[in-house]
Amino acid sequence: MKILIVEDEPKTGDYLRQGLMEAGFVVDLVRHGGDGLHAALTEHYDLAILDVMLPGSDGWTVLAGIRRSGQDMPVMFLTARDHVDDRVRGLELGADDYLVKPFAFSELLARVRTLLRRGSKVPVSPFLKAADLELDLLRRRVTRAGQRIDLTAKEFALLELLLRRQGEVLARSLIASQVWDMNFDSDTNVIEVAMRRLRAKVDDGFEPKLIHTVRGMGYVLEQPECAA
Ligand code: CA
Repeated sequence: MKILIVEDEPKTGDYLRQGLMEAGFVVDLVRHGGDGLHAALTEHYDLAILDVMLPGSDGWTVLAGIRRSGQDMPVMFLTARDHVDDRVRGLELGADDYLVKPFAFSELLARVRTLLRRGSKVPVSPFLKAADLELDLLRRRVTRAGQRIDLTAKEFALLELLLRRQGEVLARSLIASQVWDMNFDSDTNVIEVAMRRLRAKVDDGFEPKLIHTVRGMGYVLEQPECAA
């Protein structure tokens, strides 16, 4: 899951980015309103967090631009100003939530997760499954055949992506952009190493094997068609 943060205050921006990355999200942080709008219109994000007072275009303008383009990703406003007028204006413009600074990071994270669940197109349970593999989005836990599997934040994000798009061959470049937020055209080794570790944890000692390499193309998570 990829989140865009538009926040000009360095401390707040860095703190948010760090916290959300540790929670397993891919995060882009920009500090200028115009850059924020540009990013929102050219990249795919699952959620945007906007400060109101920004250099260049303010948060209202960024939100209006996002909505005008037809993008319906959830947007959360972040601001020091707690006037009722601001809140009403933000909601009228199509913001989905509003958080007043200073806030506890745990509060922000809880709201982000709620918005992401609400924003997903298909009303889904918090579980992603394939055969006896189960990923719990709420508790951030993975089990196979009932046994707990410990994953790093990156491995979790990787498995989440594979499970969300199971049956689909995912190119390394797509995996790199969704999980690492980087372009690994020149170095796919990082992905291969992470994938090997993930497969060892998810497939070693279990049947059927779920994660497969498609030579020259990428990776796919799928169960054999005859599996129950
Ligand atoms: Ca600001």
